[in-house]
Amino acid sequence: MTHDSFINDVHPLVRSFIPGEEIEVEYSADKPESVFFISVGKDGETLVSFEIKDKTKEDRLLMKNELKCTLYRELSRRLNISLPWGTLSGIRPSRLAMNHLSEGFSPEETREWMGSYYLVSSGKAALATDIAVREQRIIERVNSPGSYSLYIGIPFCPTTCLYCSFPSNAIALWKDRVGEYLKCLEKELLSVREAFDGRPPVTIYVGGGTPVTLNEDELKTLFHLLNSAFDLKDLKELTVEAGRPDAITPGKLKVLKEYGTDRISVNPQTMNDLTLKKIGRLHSVSDTVRAFNEARDAGFDNINMDIILGLPDEDTEDVKHTLSEISEMGPEDLTIHCLALKKGSALKERMDEQGYSCYKDMDLMMDAAYAGAEKMGLSPYYLYRQKNMSGNFENTGWSKAGREGLYNILMMEEVQSIAAIGAGTVSKYVGAGSDSIKRMGAPKDLKSYFEKIDDIVIKKKEMLAGK
Ligand code: SF4
Repeated sequence: MTHDSFINDVHPLVRSFIPGEEIEVEYSADKPESVFFISVGKDGETLVSFEIKDKTKEDRLLMKNELKCTLYRELSRRLNISLPWGTLSGIRPSRLAMNHLSEGFSPEETREWMGSYYLVSSGKAALATDIAVREQRIIERVNSPGSYSLYIGIPFCPTTCLYCSFPSNAIALWKDRVGEYLKCLEKELLSVREAFDGRPPVTIYVGGGTPVTLNEDELKTLFHLLNSAFDLKDLKELTVEAGRPDAITPGKLKVLKEYGTDRISVNPQTMNDLTLKKIGRLHSVSDTVRAFNEARDAGFDNINMDIILGLPDEDTEDVKHTLSEISEMGPEDLTIHCLALKKGSALKERMDEQGYSCYKDMDLMMDAAYAGAEKMGLSPYYLYRQKNMSGNFENTGWSKAGREGLYNILMMEEVQSIAAIGAGTVSKYVGAGSDSIKRMGAPKDLKSYFEKIDDIVIKKKEMLAGK
């Protein structure tokens, strides 16, 4: 075990304390092997430096934890900052809680363990543990050995939002090749069927992009392909992330309903028109309300809405306003994201140009959003964190009891394989044992996806079949 082997553990933690800046981390190669020396600096100034005795040299996990806790305490003291998720930099804190519960510990013991072992705040330890308890019950009910879920990526949108990091292409530029895209999906579906010996998926999630940029006939073709590939009579959930309100029409909603969609998303991101303009979403708040009402009229009784905290110039009052408007509509499910602003993204450049501020009072905005969700009768049921996330916070899914998005839980907790088809999607094979996860991505670029489709289906089939 060399000291350098901890670099990937140390850097994300340092970046959580000092986001978006160049940092220097130095390790001492000339110290005795039993001593771990680390120094963190910025702009030539040393922020912290310390050394710890490598007493637990043979146990990498214990050594890693000791190192991260020491580093956390030193940086926290020096910078006067506490991170809500403590030393955790991974994206699935609820998974840790679930593993601990599975070892026979009570929820109370699990909360305490997260606080003492990872220095997680009491509020976040409770959030992760409560979610893990709720997820465990659902996973026991829905998951079984060998079952899998299907993700279908539709990488088209009306226009591209400035903060977008998903596979997205303006539909106007690609409308003549949607038929070709659907043919590729057909090849992929047939190959997934073979990989799983004809067994159908337990849940299906159609995401993107904005799936309803497809017209009614194209949506029908997609559903025909699905139904030809699989017997879907026992399907537990079909979600379509309808997404951008400006692409949703009564005719498309009718098609989704006719083909058995039981959960859809209508995504406002914010209920403030000025912010929508700043983030380049070419729809208005009234479009969101119209689309939501049309979804209700079409018979949807499980509607998800997505919002983002930390958007340009938004503060706690804006978030409260968004929650109050959403509460009027009363969706069954709400996903609360924190903006993950990537260096070099169009939004970051626009923000720097225009002098917009973001991430102001994130903790207060999160408190306001969570309080608003609770007031709507929703409770958290899944959780994940991502890189570049401001303030070391998290994204959470909230729902009414019994309306949880099953796919979200199965995918996030990595309890079964995910066959993901389409450009820019990532398939995952989950075998027995937690170290048996394999991933395979498909090109995000549409031209490459079209060119390589035959190769993609062969390789993906092997991977999903566990070969
Ligand atoms: S709707 Fe979603 S996928 Fe499409 S451009 Fe906007 S953020 Fe990206």
